[in-house]
Amino acid sequence: MGGAAGRAGPCGLVEPPTDHATVRAWVDRDRAVVWHGFTQMAAYADNSPVIAESAEGHWIIDVAGNRYLDAISSLWVTTVGHRVPRLDAALRDQLDRVAHTTLLGNGSRAAIEFAEALAPRLPMDGAHLVFASDGAAAVEQALKIALQYWVNLGVAGHTRYLAFGGAYHGDTIGSLSVGDGGFGTDLFDPLRFGVLRAPGFDRPDAIEVACRMVAKHAGELAAVVVEPLVQGAAGMHLLPPEAFAPLQDACRRHDVLLVCDEVAVGFGRTGTLFASEQCGLRPDLMALGKGISAGYLALSATAADDRVYEAFLGEDLGARTLHHGHSYGGNALACAVGLEHLRLIDDEDVLTNVRGRAEQFADLLDRQVAPLPGVAEVRQHGLMIGVEVAPPAEGLRWGRRISAACVAGGVLIRPLGDVIVIVPHLTTTAEEAELIVATVAGAIAEVATADVATADGVTADGVPADGARAV
Ligand SMILES: *Cc1c(COP(=O)(O)O)cnc(C)c1O
Repeated sequence: MGGAAGRAGPCGLVEPPTDHATVRAWVDRDRAVVWHGFTQMAAYADNSPVIAESAEGHWIIDVAGNRYLDAISSLWVTTVGHRVPRLDAALRDQLDRVAHTTLLGNGSRAAIEFAEALAPRLPMDGAHLVFASDGAAAVEQALKIALQYWVNLGVAGHTRYLAFGGAYHGDTIGSLSVGDGGFGTDLFDPLRFGVLRAPGFDRPDAIEVACRMVAKHAGELAAVVVEPLVQGAAGMHLLPPEAFAPLQDACRRHDVLLVCDEVAVGFGRTGTLFASEQCGLRPDLMALGKGISAGYLALSATAADDRVYEAFLGEDLGARTLHHGHSYGGNALACAVGLEHLRLIDDEDVLTNVRGRAEQFADLLDRQVAPLPGVAEVRQHGLMIGVEVAPPAEGLRWGRRISAACVAGGVLIRPLGDVIVIVPHLTTTAEEAELIVATVAGAIAEVATADVATADGVTADGVPADGARAV
């Protein structure tokens, strides 16, 4: 693939030529002052970063005018695309009222209206929302609320958490602690508090083992924390919806709180508004983020059910008060977009498109990607997709190289290790789905087929390899 230059686009239009000099200049300015998370800055410039300038719908347009189909929804946050007219209008309308006022000790109309629309949609018994700005903070709040719940009840000893292998809950110290490491974060182990660790979703008995652990350790547990249906950052590891009910039963039976982290799976990603619905879960606490504001602004929330919320009611200035709060929590602009987003999901029947596209992706991946040499497994639930590739040797960086080939082909992909992650917009069209799968298949063929053939003792040209291995 020779870059986006001169490629025929999905509509048959010839795309503008890649302007390497312009992109390069922006990358240089970028790395002079911006430090990108989870990115090795010494290699950043060589990994063909896309420097976005604007966007149209599902497409990102870079500083040189190249267009990239955003197949990762800007890291799983933009649900219905960029610059959606009615979301833009809701934001502008709120801007004419007020951008932000604090929710500490005071309220805001935008936050109230959003919470009124969201609370009844949550699979919980009476949801009360504590707003924050990032998913990690929503998880952190859930952990602290769970702990204080037991303190407020006057029940001692419930100070630990049970979490799953492979779990990812964010990057603050608390969320990092319930998460299972990886991504190079093991160096922070001295900062992590210890948790009880059940197996990851790559093991079919994960929930069964977790239930036994809940029974054994109930007296010391504040809560169980789980990503319902899909462990996203683990590389899209799945358990079937029916696997989760026993976990809730165990929590109920042994009086332990259940926290569902729906930061990744919430807001339609898996075909229902919340994944807990498919699992038949009614958690005590939920962490929400990413798609909550359609990817427009930093917003997250922790939802607590009646039982938890009521344990915090007491005297003014008293000890039962939730001793936690963030400056930008419940930002009015973000809440205004969040409210319009919920309406849009209903009005435009977005979830029906998610289910239809999910079927189409499953079919396309089955035919075009799963049979390719080097593909170990395709995992998918709704519009969360992971294609695990298995390089024949260490150090081949397939995830990185396949994603780079996708970007060169005009489709923005970012891998998780050697898992090619596809998290397209909920409003992705049938044509876009075809383009994404064809591009990913082409990229895997380009990178993997050559390496596999070489590792098998035959070069990509069909000539026996003489020991030298293509990297
Ligand atoms: C992304 C993610 C988080 C963290 O959200 P941030 O907004 O990045 O802090 C937490 N939990 C899950 C399941 C996530 O996917």
